[in-house]
Amino acid sequence: MRPAPLPRRPLSWTSWPLRKSPPLSHAVIALTRPGEPRLTEARRECFWFAFRVPVFEQIIGERGELLAAECEAHDGLHIESMRAPLDKMTLEMSPCGCGRKTPRLVSADRAETLRRVAAYAR
Ligand SMILES: [Zn+2]
Repeated sequence: MRPAPLPRRPLSWTSWPLRKSPPLSHAVIALTRPGEPRLTEARRECFWFAFRVPVFEQIIGERGELLAAECEAHDGLHIESMRAPLDKMTLEMSPCGCGRKTPRLVSADRAETLRRVAAYAR
């Protein structure tokens, strides 16, 4: 089976009208740049409803270089470059569910939830 054709240029997910679309065979990669709004849970739901494939967020720099990327655990974005922006996010140092031990960018709300779970588990 051949993969579905990809768009010639990335779609802007902030303005793109999400509607029921033909199913995709691969995951959706949502690209954001430093300072842009992050992918929200509501937007993830829209992608899931439209395509029925997982969504992975990546933060890229001005030249398209990868700064941070979400893994299959969907528990923050692994830092891939020292230029990854903090942008109202917190560094999570605990090991990720994917097995990687690199720091992750997580939302402040998510970091607080992780701290509460860790405190409860002690
Ligand atoms: Zn991970």
